[in-house]
Amino acid sequence: MAKASTTSVDAIGGYTIVRREPLERIEGSYIELRHEGTGARHIHIECDDDNNAFTVFFPTTPRDSTGVAHILEHVVLAGSRRFPVRDPFFSMTRRSLATFMNAFTSADWTMYPFSTRNDKDFRNLLDVYLDATFFPTLAEDSFKQEGIRFEFEVPDDPTSGLRYKGVVFNEMKGALASPQAAMQRAIGAALFPGLTYSFISGGDPERIPDLTWQQLRDFHAGHYHPSNAYFYTYGNQSLERTLDVIESSTLSRFKRIEVDTEIPDVQRFKRPVTHSEAYPPTSGDDLTRKSQALVGWVTVNSADSMKLLSMRVLSEVLLGNAGSPLRKALIDSKLGTAMADGSGLQDDFRETVFGAGLKDIRTEDAHQVEQLVLDTLDGLAGTGLDPTQVDAVIHRLEFEKRERSNAGFPYALKVLFGMLPAYNYGGDPYSALNFDADLAHLEAARREGRWFENLIRAELLDNMHRALITVVPDPELEERKRLRELDRLAAAAALVSEADRVRIVADAMRLKAEQDAKQDLSVLPTLELTDIPMKFEPVPSRRVEAGGLQVDFYPLPTNGVTYLDLRADFSVLSREQQRLLPLFGRVLTQSGAAGQDYTVIAHRIASVTGGIGAAAQVQSLARQEGFIESFMVSGKALDRNARPFVELLRDLIARLDIEPARLREIVAESATRLESSIANLGFQFAILLAHAKLSSEGALNERLQGIEMLHTIRELVATGDAALDELSARMQEIRRALFTRQSVQVVVTCEEDMVDMISELLAEMAADLPDAGRAAEGAPRPDPLEPRPEARTAPVPVAFNVRTFKTVRYTHPDAPVLLVLANFLRDNFIHRELREKGGAYGGYVQASTGAGTFYFGSYRDPNIVRTYDVYDQAARWVLDNQIEAEPLKEAILGACGDVDPLESPDIKGRREAINRLTGFTREERERFKQRLLAVTPADLQRVATRYLVEGHGVQATVAGADLVADARKERPGLFEVVAPV
Ligand SMILES: [Zn+2]
Repeated sequence: MAKASTTSVDAIGGYTIVRREPLERIEGSYIELRHEGTGARHIHIECDDDNNAFTVFFPTTPRDSTGVAHILEHVVLAGSRRFPVRDPFFSMTRRSLATFMNAFTSADWTMYPFSTRNDKDFRNLLDVYLDATFFPTLAEDSFKQEGIRFEFEVPDDPTSGLRYKGVVFNEMKGALASPQAAMQRAIGAALFPGLTYSFISGGDPERIPDLTWQQLRDFHAGHYHPSNAYFYTYGNQSLERTLDVIESSTLSRFKRIEVDTEIPDVQRFKRPVTHSEAYPPTSGDDLTRKSQALVGWVTVNSADSMKLLSMRVLSEVLLGNAGSPLRKALIDSKLGTAMADGSGLQDDFRETVFGAGLKDIRTEDAHQVEQLVLDTLDGLAGTGLDPTQVDAVIHRLEFEKRERSNAGFPYALKVLFGMLPAYNYGGDPYSALNFDADLAHLEAARREGRWFENLIRAELLDNMHRALITVVPDPELEERKRLRELDRLAAAAALVSEADRVRIVADAMRLKAEQDAKQDLSVLPTLELTDIPMKFEPVPSRRVEAGGLQVDFYPLPTNGVTYLDLRADFSVLSREQQRLLPLFGRVLTQSGAAGQDYTVIAHRIASVTGGIGAAAQVQSLARQEGFIESFMVSGKALDRNARPFVELLRDLIARLDIEPARLREIVAESATRLESSIANLGFQFAILLAHAKLSSEGALNERLQGIEMLHTIRELVATGDAALDELSARMQEIRRALFTRQSVQVVVTCEEDMVDMISELLAEMAADLPDAGRAAEGAPRPDPLEPRPEARTAPVPVAFNVRTFKTVRYTHPDAPVLLVLANFLRDNFIHRELREKGGAYGGYVQASTGAGTFYFGSYRDPNIVRTYDVYDQAARWVLDNQIEAEPLKEAILGACGDVDPLESPDIKGRREAINRLTGFTREERERFKQRLLAVTPADLQRVATRYLVEGHGVQATVAGADLVADARKERPGLFEVVAPV
């Protein structure tokens, strides 16, 4: 039972407690408050978690595509009244042990969340967040820097060409290029005409130049006001103290205003509409089957948690897994190969959108896709949904609600996201959190019959607010956009007076000088090295032998969830087999088994687990050169499903059935998924390619996750049906080689009282595993790739540039110094040079203390040559500058945060098990952390010389073909190899 409320007050300071309710699932309380003076809303989740969170968000509802809300988010982070420094958020990341810090702009809100386990840190960050959001400087120069400005191609030469510059301007050029982004744009435009969703909230590079500084300031005044503010706090800290800070520093300085951020219901269509949107395809692609078609509806209101739950369940039943009826009908039609972007239910609009469709279709088949969706729904409304599929979906949602995982986002923020639609759109946030009550309602409604069938009719078939959306490749799109931009610039240039030219040059010089200027960061609050916890908690474990299997149990309070990993060493496989591992991982979890076809297996996975995944991983050794090769099958389930869960794992690894027809679908779907996300994979590909030139470990990672993996899948797609039988046989060979009684190691993280039962179940599983045959030869470890600098062209309008160096292993005394050096260089040099000056979305420096590498990387970068020049200068910059105490302390703090990430039971046991295999023991990790605290300026200069100046970097770029061509023109020797991805 929940605690009785400890106080009977119904007011705290200037706040009234509107509601206080128990939250049994998280053993805490829900407290909803309203600030009387301003109308600010606040929800506090009181619980035992020491990872305390704070968020403030504002409904922001732009009426154009200038990106005003997004640019404001950037400019807000560029200095405030009490903290007038260039980039207080970024500076705080180095003075903090935050477990999360970010800012987001969605279609209709802007949010500023953080979390931390350190009490002093929480108060520091709270001060900075409040001041930034409510009292930002909003300087004109910040607007020019982050948003949009004119600059000459050569900034101090007014006779060179006029250009647009700005961080968001560049960011959005990259962000809008993918088919996914085109689909998202189309959904807003087609289904919400006239409303805020019909605009590109992030900003359309063709419209961003229309925005003025004054419009930005007006937007802030009208939206970032307590009367339009939604606060959220979570954790074990005193609510009274937090409210007191918010009120005295912020709310007390405002008077209530009327805000206008209401989004009306969309005017419902009388008949369905069609909408087409273009995207830039990969150059050289065959475009006959590169379109997408999506049938989309506006359905229930997101604020109504019960209706939202019903629609979510319906959406998952229709589309959630390979056996789901609407998904299966679409895939089986062979009109396309994978679900269209936008398929499923979206609740980040005030009214939800349900969509279903296919990608990789011929444009002229769009109407057939639409008809198929409608016919399938009509059939299901008539014959009814399979109740066991509904049960499976409800089970999965229940699982998600139960699991307290920090994966992806801290749990502290997942609680907010779970109630966000209700909070933001005027529903009942408590009922959105109190899932059990809605679930009971839903079950009662189901018992009365035809609930979902009626929902299909009411919200889909009879709902005329529907659009058939096509996303179509247009090879000339980027070029037309480029020419339009040049036209705009030429028109602007014609109007630019001599005085304007002088001003544009002066602006550029001033912005550059500002970025180079030393800042006084002492106004910002900070943690000290003495605030850092130096010990890692032990993770106790117990080794058990279960029917010949080696099992390591990590008993932890998991809230009734069992996590189970099966590890097999894949070094026994041949090179060819290793290349097939990424595919094998999918095949293992998406095929039939034990005489049941893949739809039945998909249903079993959904009904009794919280998900099963399988993938190859390479893990570095702590002490010496080398790595271990793990193929991991990982799953999780509610404790009450332990038996069917382990039986399912057994069927997958011991009794897998691979139908050639199913295999062909999996191959095609993998290929489609990869090809359509190349724009998002560019950075990963560049990093892996560079590291493949450095070491065997890098080459193996590239084979498993990089461009070679993409090429393997392409080859498989290209081979005909005749090869499928053979491929299927090879998949089975891989399975038999990996999973034997001797080879499989098991790691289980679960509640203490589950250990005996799981042991028994695993012993039963062991009986079905074969004994290892003659030890297989296995492939020799791959050689590193040619170290020559390389560029891969891809359909992106930006570049990803990576240069990497070989360093030392974890236990070497230089390893902690390299980690501090990476933080130091990123924060004091690379971030400024690449992001602030160069206009890249991100500039990174990473020391991989595991693999013994050190790399520079740029993300969504408009430059190539310039960026490599910056990398050239980086080490010298460390040597030529005095390293002061404060930035060094910050770099050490950052490094301490890197080695102590927020963990939750879902990964704690697994991580500990791998640490023990690879030699990252608790003692070594504590020694490493101690050594971090002792790093000196001389240490940094010494390792910079030794590994960066004297070392040999290797490099790889993934970028648009134009950018690569320009770079080669400018510096002919820059790349020795150029090829498409
Ligand atoms: Zn941004």
